[in-house]
Amino acid sequence: MKKSEGLLFLLFLVSSSLFSQQYNDFFINKACRVDFHFCGNAQQTAVFMDNVKLEPFWGGRHTQLDHDLNLGDYRFRVLDSISNRQIYINGFSSLYREWQSTAEALTTSKSFEQSIQFPFPKKAVTLIIEKRLDLDHWTELYRYVISPTDKLIQRTQPLSVPVKVIAHTASPDKAIDIAVIAEGYTLKEQKKFYHDARRLAENLLTHEPFTKYKSRINIYAIAAPSDESGISLSTDSLWKNTAVMSHFYTFYEPRYLTTTNTFKVRDLAALVPYDAIYVLANTSTYGGGGIFNFYALTAAGSNLATQVTVHEFGHSFAGLADEYFYDKQDALDGMYDIKKEPWEPNITSLVQFDRKWKAQLPESIVIPTPDTNSTKTKIGVFEGGGYLTKGLYRPYFDCRMRTNKAPEFCPVCQQAVERMILFLTE
Ligand SMILES: [Zn+2]
Repeated sequence: MKKSEGLLFLLFLVSSSLFSQQYNDFFINKACRVDFHFCGNAQQTAVFMDNVKLEPFWGGRHTQLDHDLNLGDYRFRVLDSISNRQIYINGFSSLYREWQSTAEALTTSKSFEQSIQFPFPKKAVTLIIEKRLDLDHWTELYRYVISPTDKLIQRTQPLSVPVKVIAHTASPDKAIDIAVIAEGYTLKEQKKFYHDARRLAENLLTHEPFTKYKSRINIYAIAAPSDESGISLSTDSLWKNTAVMSHFYTFYEPRYLTTTNTFKVRDLAALVPYDAIYVLANTSTYGGGGIFNFYALTAAGSNLATQVTVHEFGHSFAGLADEYFYDKQDALDGMYDIKKEPWEPNITSLVQFDRKWKAQLPESIVIPTPDTNSTKTKIGVFEGGGYLTKGLYRPYFDCRMRTNKAPEFCPVCQQAVERMILFLTE
């Protein structure tokens, strides 16, 4: 070891002990879950508090607590209430934000359940919830002081639901912990659920960079029983009593499968330490949904399940945008304002392209990059993405975030996923 390397190594030791010291200074090894409601319409957003809970496991990161990857339509910050020092931060997105871009939000106000989780504090903290204005600016929506000794913090026992470990490779602070939740599986279908959860894990691990970091991925199967088998509004247009009441036709889009029962989803996820939630739906009808740091939800039995499960996890785990676009009208047409740079790592409006993959462009690539045989395997700036044919650009001709035919994530998406894996596990 050279002298300079030795010094670096020493610095690394000192800084990692500072990091772990920081965790232990401020937090215990349990989670604080905050349930609230996003309320409003196309123009307005308000936050209303529901409940604060102490949950048995914290599966998230133990280091780099006071910075994040600048992803999500929202973020929350936790400040030590005496020093006002920021001791935790995380970004997230919501179904509410998507609904705000639909026609219904122009004439109606609604409320949507939202939950966030951070390590349970040792002393009083101030929670601040903020909404993104652009790539670097935020506006405060809500502020709340949480005292860990507050009697009204719910300290209920976890639900009594069977859990099976599908993969366990590292301790939760060094691993991506994925909570896979059964939806639409009756008690009799428990074995089928474990089989489907295992298949989901295998699908995910065939995609880079998940394959490369296999030894840092833990997967738990939470066998929540449903009264009825199947999913609401699939092929038979019936409503069913299921564990988290998910359904197709979200925002009247036939294949958009989500649940608005976020609190139920979180109650089930609380049975394990988790970084990410995957709701696995017992149906063969094609569909799914995925929202950053919220959940991914897909049909386990569709013949495109391999592709869709990975695509939706790209959204929920790494904050990737859809790289597809339609000529026809889509419910989510109004999601992006092309006068601003979107925060998602795999699309650009070219407003702040230097913050995206500009440095990785091969020399002499044309912007916008034409769809030709020679550009198919190059990083470029292809027009069309984020549901829009014009004004938004994607980094590669095809990608797991664009079509089910693409074999894998494009290089820019792979880097974004890798960055998240490293952020959560190092
Ligand atoms: Zn991509």
